Amino acid sequence: MTNPVYLDTSATTKVHPDVVEAMLPFLQETVGNASSLHFYGRKSHEAVDVARAQVAKLLNCQPEEIYFTPCGTYSNNTALLGRARFCEANDLGKHLITSVVEHPSVIGPAKYLEANGWKVTYLPVDKEGFVSVPELKKAITKDTSIISIMWANNEIGTVQPIAEIAEVAKEKNIYFHTDAVQVVGKMEVDMQAILVSALALSGHKLNAPKGIGVLFVRGGTNLMPIVFGGGQERGLFAGTENIASIVGMGKAAEIAHRSLAKTEKHLRNLQAIITEKLLAVDGIKITGPKDPELRVPGHVSVVVPGAQGDAIILQSDLKNICISSGSACHSGVIEPSSVLKAIALPREEALGSARISAGIFNTDKECREAAETLAGVFKSLMKKPAAVKY
Ligand code: PLP
Repeated sequence: MTNPVYLDTSATTKVHPDVVEAMLPFLQETVGNASSLHFYGRKSHEAVDVARAQVAKLLNCQPEEIYFTPCGTYSNNTALLGRARFCEANDLGKHLITSVVEHPSVIGPAKYLEANGWKVTYLPVDKEGFVSVPELKKAITKDTSIISIMWANNEIGTVQPIAEIAEVAKEKNIYFHTDAVQVVGKMEVDMQAILVSALALSGHKLNAPKGIGVLFVRGGTNLMPIVFGGGQERGLFAGTENIASIVGMGKAAEIAHRSLAKTEKHLRNLQAIITEKLLAVDGIKITGPKDPELRVPGHVSVVVPGAQGDAIILQSDLKNICISSGSACHSGVIEPSSVLKAIALPREEALGSARISAGIFNTDKECREAAETLAGVFKSLMKKPAAVKY
């Protein structure tokens, strides 16, 4: 059997061979603690500095504005809870504005703050998953001290009007964090052009290993730590640095920066191929933005009316294709995700959601063939069971 076709890169990506190569010496040879003064410690420290500069180049910011974290989840948690600690200590107001479609690593801290004396506004989204900038403006009060809106949604691919939101926040002098985990490496993310205060990214979404993330914090922006220990990462992310993964993150950032235009073009092309094949099947509907330019490159999400999420994944898997669904089985009951509920899909459609996300290693031919196969699988799952005759 040939290896399955992997079309689930919004969930995670394969580590780039050049990233593996860059990491190997930091796994196989003596690797010092970056805080140690001796030869091996200095080597590690230097490697972290190189990686920091590589990530800064990708985001067009200063290396001092880059913090290495254990993953995207930690980046988001610190961006919210670490800022909230600072707001509380300085009486800056206890109102957070976020949206209903955020990742659990933002919704979780928001719920925690809500349970601890904060007011939280969860902005609704329209049918394509966009927050409304006028609604955001209306929600701002004198107590608003944090805005956190994701750059792009993992399930339905919606790319939010981040530049506009950043303008609003800047005008009102409000800290603005964005979860950019799904876009970095696929689209331009330029910290000189888009004036966010903080931005989270995750290594394993851009061909670095799992378990490494980054938090960009604009110079002059104050956050307090939420984890305490040895004071690494200038006190914000305590814990001995994972040198090999940091090196991998840096290399992945370098590759992403070098090939960004090519990658975006390639992913847009694969997205178009998959979308065309799937939408040719009567009844299949796109979820998220219809305009591909407003979606994450390479990301396609659809509903297969009458089908169920788990069956979609398993039947596709039987055909050697790995995809995902936003409708999962919890204790024997299929439930659509909160994102699918937020875009007000009828329940019977939301139960049959499918996400197909192509990455840099997928080819045109592979995507064309896989999409044809998926179209057949989806079609068969849409068929209503024949009426039982007595
Ligand atoms: N934010 C978004 C939008 C994601 O898709 C994910 C991962 O799926 C995360 C945050 C969390 O990143 P990590 O897996 O590195 O914790």
